[in-house]
Amino acid sequence: MVHQEDYTDLDALFLEIEKVIEKKHKEITKLHNREDFRKEFIGNVSHELKTPLFTAQGYILTLLDDDISDKKLHKQYLNKAAQSIERLDFIIKDLDMISKLESGMDLNYEVFNIIKLINDVFDMLEIKARKKNIQLTFDRIYDFPLFVRADMKRIEQVLINLISNSINYGKTDGTTTVSVRNYLKDQFIIKVKDNGIGIDKKDLPRLFERFYRVDKSRSRKHGGSGLGLSIVKHIVEAHKQQIFVDSVKGSGSTFSFTLRKLV
Ligand code: ADP
Repeated sequence: MVHQEDYTDLDALFLEIEKVIEKKHKEITKLHNREDFRKEFIGNVSHELKTPLFTAQGYILTLLDDDISDKKLHKQYLNKAAQSIERLDFIIKDLDMISKLESGMDLNYEVFNIIKLINDVFDMLEIKARKKNIQLTFDRIYDFPLFVRADMKRIEQVLINLISNSINYGKTDGTTTVSVRNYLKDQFIIKVKDNGIGIDKKDLPRLFERFYRVDKSRSRKHGGSGLGLSIVKHIVEAHKQQIFVDSVKGSGSTFSFTLRKLV
C-alpha cells in the first residue's frame, strides 16, 4: 500500500532530480560556450601570427632566391623582415600576458603615488607622442601626491596601453589629458582623454574583446596586437575596480578606470 507520505517523498525526490538535471544542463552549456570560445581564440591567434610570419618569410625567401645585387634593396627587405619579427615578438608578449591574466594572477598590492606613476608613463611615451606632435598633459597641477593601493606594475601597464592608444588613434598636433578625481567614497577615477579619431557607438560594446579592432589596417600600421584593451580590462577587474569608455566618432575618446584610495 502507498501512503500519502510516500507521494510527498517521491515529489521531493523528483524535484531534487530536476534541480540536478538543470544544474548539469547549465554546466554543459557553459562548457560548450567555453569550448567555442577556446576554438575561436586559437583561430584568432594563428591568424594573427600567420600574417607577420609569412611577411618575414616572404622577404627572406626573396633575398635567398633572387639574385638581387642592389644593396639598398637588400637592406630594405631585411628591415621589413625585422619589422615583422618585431611584431611577432610584440603579439607573443601580449598573448603571454593575457594567458597569465586569464589563469588568475596574483596581484602584488602596494601603496604608491598615482601622480608619479602617470608622470613616469608620460616620460616613457614622450618620444612616441612627439612623433605626432601630441601633447601629454595633466588637466591641472597636482600639488600633492595621491596614494592608491594596487599592483603598481600592472597599473603601469594599464596606463601605458591607454596612453599609447590615445597617441596611436590621436590626431597630429592633438592632446592627451589625464585627470585624477575622487570617485564614490574611497576610490579615485583616472581618466585618459584624447581628441583623436573617436569610436563609433556600435563598436563600443565589443571594444574590450580580445583581437577586436575598429580599423584593422590602422591598428596593424602601428603594430597593434588587438589585445591592449583586453589586457587593461583584465587588470582593472582583477583589482575589483571598474573601467569605462566614452567616445564620439571624429572628436575623441575618454577611457577611465577606478582605483582604491589608501584610507
Ligand atoms: P590595438 O592593438 O588594435 O590598438 P586595443 O585592444 O588596444 O588594440 O584596441 C582595440 C581597438 O580599439 C583599436 O584597434 C582601435 O580601433 C580602438 N581604440 C582603442 N583606443 C582608442 C582610442 N583612444 N581612440 C580611438 N580608437 C581606439
